[in-house]
Amino acid sequence: VSTLEIHDLHVSVGDKEILKGVDLVVSSGETHAIMGPNGSGKSTLAYAIAGHPKYTITSGRVLLDGEDLLDMTVDERARAGLFLAMQYPVEVPGVSVSNFLRSAVTAVRGEAPKLREFAKDLKKGMDALAIDGSFATRNTNEGFSGGEKKRHEILQLELLKPKIAVLDETDSGLDVDALRVVSEGINRFRESGDTGVLLITHYTRILRYVTPDFVHVFAAGRIVEEGGPELAEKLEDEGYEAYTKAAL
Ligand code: ADP
Ligand code: MG
Ligand code: MG
Repeated sequence: VSTLEIHDLHVSVGDKEILKGVDLVVSSGETHAIMGPNGSGKSTLAYAIAGHPKYTITSGRVLLDGEDLLDMTVDERARAGLFLAMQYPVEVPGVSVSNFLRSAVTAVRGEAPKLREFAKDLKKGMDALAIDGSFATRNTNEGFSGGEKKRHEILQLELLKPKIAVLDETDSGLDVDALRVVSEGINRFRESGDTGVLLITHYTRILRYVTPDFVHVFAAGRIVEEGGPELAEKLEDEGYEAYTKAAL
């Protein structure tokens, strides 16, 4: 079992404190949803875990299997088994999807996968996500639709097999078909039991397809309520207003 532990995390951007003491434990095989209104700090949590230089950790600890994640470089975090899919993936001009993914696998494993084995895994992953073969030769993220970006993220998951995956706003901009394919990808992952998923979302929509084991409600930089899947249903009916008011 792998575990991501977040202890009393405080994060600032500039001199503004955004996360005000977040505690969260995610183990492999578990799916946790973080839900909350816009501006509550959900993406800040993802960026802070990713090691984005704009986000300053002012106190608290983040451990992956007992190792201090905040001490690691971004590459070391990936090698330790952390995967972060960001809300706005960067374009990598002149690098094909296939080469991008092979580099990512190489970085995580510390050695390049054999070409034939990689090609087989890539084809299998693309087939599972209903991705056309020509996708592999396109420039990474260049002109990708919302659905293509998300499929690309899940394809990375399939190939990298991380211990803990942090997926931010995975359902934004997805039509129903794409949402279903992406959700099925996440569910395949859950069934393997090897990966812990932290699914960060504003909308309850994706949670109709991916049932979380735990739901955490974020408001004003803190977790203000926790529960099981029934909490997602309550949020779908009632929205975030009660939490937003209480947090002020
Ligand atoms: P969420 O993902 O829940 O919508 P964010 O983490 O994106 O929330 O933002 C939380 C708060 O932090 C917002 O008030 C936002 O304006 C601020 N913030 C986040 N990132 C930055 C940044 N890079 N520069 C300035 N302010 C930021
Ligand atoms: Mg505190
Ligand atoms: Mg966000």
